[in-house]
Amino acid sequence: MTVVTALLAFAVGAAVGLAVLAAGELRWEARTRLPRCTTCGEQHPRHAAHR
Ligand SMILES: [Zn+2]
Repeated sequence: MTVVTALLAFAVGAAVGLAVLAAGELRWEARTRLPRCTTCGEQHPRHAAHR
């Protein structure tokens, strides 16, 4: 029973850590991928066409 509990705790900890890492990575990518454009003031890829 103790081994099962330890494995469960380890699995939960690993899952939480991975979730935190994934969330941080996604937020960082979203921020760096779509910078605020200085031409039109909206968020889109840097070299998008302006019409
Ligand atoms: Zn723009």
